[in-house]
Amino acid sequence: CGIVGIISRKPVADRLVDALKRLEYRGYDSAGVATLENGRLTRRRAEGKLSNLATLVGEQQLDGTIGIGHTRWATHGVPSVANAHPHATKRLALVHNGIIENYRELKAELETEGAVFESQTDTEIVAHLVTRELERGLPPKEAVQVVLARLEGAFSLAFLFDGEEELLIGARRGSPLAVGEGEGEMFLGSDGIALSPFTDTVRYLEEGDLAVLEHGRITIFDQHGAEVTRAVKRAGGKA
Ligand code: GLU
Repeated sequence: CGIVGIISRKPVADRLVDALKRLEYRGYDSAGVATLENGRLTRRRAEGKLSNLATLVGEQQLDGTIGIGHTRWATHGVPSVANAHPHATKRLALVHNGIIENYRELKAELETEGAVFESQTDTEIVAHLVTRELERGLPPKEAVQVVLARLEGAFSLAFLFDGEEELLIGARRGSPLAVGEGEGEMFLGSDGIALSPFTDTVRYLEEGDLAVLEHGRITIFDQHGAEVTRAVKRAGGKA
């Protein structure tokens, strides 16, 4: 229900949890964060209040200067730790707002290829689909683009890749997503409120856009893959 992502040179776990607190108004039943610790994907997820996640992250420290976070409002699968986002494979972690309408047929296709699922969510199929494209040799952005073309529904997504300390990818298909730049840091989030402590200005992705966040640069592509610019707005507002 709420998405946040940070690329930095400083630790991000606590700031991801704080940003999720500013998205609490949207409602949620569970929450989670993922970072890269020494380049490797690591996750913490908790059912219920964000304070449960904050406690978990306090007890089991999560290092890393790049990460994504999520508050979940369950649509497919009960509220539980296994169904909480981020969902992950060995190659990537992702967070998702909204619904993948055609997830059943995609899940069946993946299962015939031997994919094993850990959750009942519609979200987890996206992790497996992108992993399959990465294993076929596509770079992250192209892998995400190929998969987005197959998804039906209204949603937004954010991806973190194992071994990629300088890369986050966000995509908007009917559910809002904003990106912003701070002092040597890059951010994405469901709305400007989540990002307001980090940056004064944000850009809202338009329908079909994909954003590539790297250190010092955010590049936005439209649904045809052409690089585009989007209007700068003041942070602090709802999308
Ligand atoms: N459909 C996804 C799920 O049930 C995402 C829900 C949300 O937007 O939080 O896990």
